[in-house]
Amino acid sequence: MMNSIRRTKIISTLGPSTDKKNILRKIIKSGVNVLRLNFSHGIAEDHINRVNKIRSLEKELNCCVALIGDLQGPKIRISSFKEKKIFLKHGDNFLLDLNIPKNKGDKNAVGIDYTNLPNEVSCNDILLLDDGKIKLKVIKINNTKIFTKVIIGGYLSDNKGLNKLGGGLSASALTKKDEEDIKLAARINIDYLAVSFPRSSQDLQKARLLIRQAGSKAKIIAKIERAEAISSDKIIKDIIIASDAIMIARGDLGVEIGDYQLIGVQKKLIKITRKLNRVSITATQMMESMITNPFPTRAEVMDVANSVLDGTDAVMLSAETASGNFPEITVQNMSKICIGAEKVPCMHISKHRLHKQFDNIPETISMSVMYSANHLKNIVAVVMILTSNKIALLTSRITSGIPIFYISNSIRKLRLSTLYRGVIPIYLENILKNKNTTNTAIKLLKDKKLLRKNNTIIVIKNNKKNHCQSVNSYKIINVS
Ligand code: PGA
Ligand code: MN
Repeated sequence: MMNSIRRTKIISTLGPSTDKKNILRKIIKSGVNVLRLNFSHGIAEDHINRVNKIRSLEKELNCCVALIGDLQGPKIRISSFKEKKIFLKHGDNFLLDLNIPKNKGDKNAVGIDYTNLPNEVSCNDILLLDDGKIKLKVIKINNTKIFTKVIIGGYLSDNKGLNKLGGGLSASALTKKDEEDIKLAARINIDYLAVSFPRSSQDLQKARLLIRQAGSKAKIIAKIERAEAISSDKIIKDIIIASDAIMIARGDLGVEIGDYQLIGVQKKLIKITRKLNRVSITATQMMESMITNPFPTRAEVMDVANSVLDGTDAVMLSAETASGNFPEITVQNMSKICIGAEKVPCMHISKHRLHKQFDNIPETISMSVMYSANHLKNIVAVVMILTSNKIALLTSRITSGIPIFYISNSIRKLRLSTLYRGVIPIYLENILKNKNTTNTAIKLLKDKKLLRKNNTIIVIKNNKKNHCQSVNSYKIINVS
């Protein structure tokens, strides 16, 4: 019964493919927990229409879906070509020049949109275009001009992204466009705001301030995609603490630090994030071949599975669902991979915090609950009734095979918890009308076939009557 409940969450990016008839309904039914609006593409109206559709589907399907608004950030791009696309050969000279206007680039030179670039590169720097597919070496810099030699060639088309190997470009994390998009994000009531290319905790504090000023309670996701963001353990920690979740944005990060560094960085970031009671998302090219194929490669299966084994809260789909040909089948496959990886025995028990002192009551209760759940034989579920989403988050920091059913009448808290590994949010509007909230919750779970008679469960309840500020007890119950 419990075996088929997936703990790892799936994020799907919206785009032209999910706008097609019924696709959104199909991917939500296939198990998408969180939808990502990419502010790099589309106009306000597109985002508003999508959100309206999602919120009505959420009601219709009686589920909880969180929304991430993902800011474009200071992505540095080349300008455009006369012929839209050029071919660069190994050994060619290629010029990046601030003075070349839009649509005037050719195989010798192209414009660039980041005016400070010539001041921020030096001779012998490696510039990477189009997610690292093209590699250029800087030969000479002259005012507005950066002269380069092609190290790895290939086709290059309009507006492709540019990164410097090793990082170090100083563009501020929040652009004017981002500030406008933050207002839009507040208007459409997103749950999480993703900040692109933050360099330090200050960038996240600023984003949080701006979204609060716009009237939203959205939580903040730091996209880890700059070499600077992981340049020391202190910076990593500060960034994680300043955010509510992080995204390991393997696209840009991999280009800046090199893919071979990414292997250890992914594991390290997931581990520290969990320790600091924050949430982690593993993103980019997880099921890339499914943009055009109806099945994943075995390497992709293993990549998604390994991030589940690393302990990630969520795995993310980008172009696979935004513009791919098989969004529904991609989500179904990703879901099966997560469930497969979660069956590995080391995913069921935790030694986490075993020798630690706890800081506060919520942490103590949450840890005790999860140790009881993991160690008492026959426990089939943890049921949280009307607790804060902080308790939901803390319990989900402990590795376990036992589902955590989070029952609440607060749709906002439930939506936030859709990102927490192992937490299954369930909306119960009238729960407070009933005297015995535990019985009401158990009846609901039985009706949903999530529990049955004689199951042993742990119940944590927010019980205001006991005059306590926070939840500080739990019960082990045999379902009758
Ligand atoms: P993006 O971020 O898709 O917004 O570029 C993710 C990444 O860089 O991996
Ligand atoms: Mn990126």
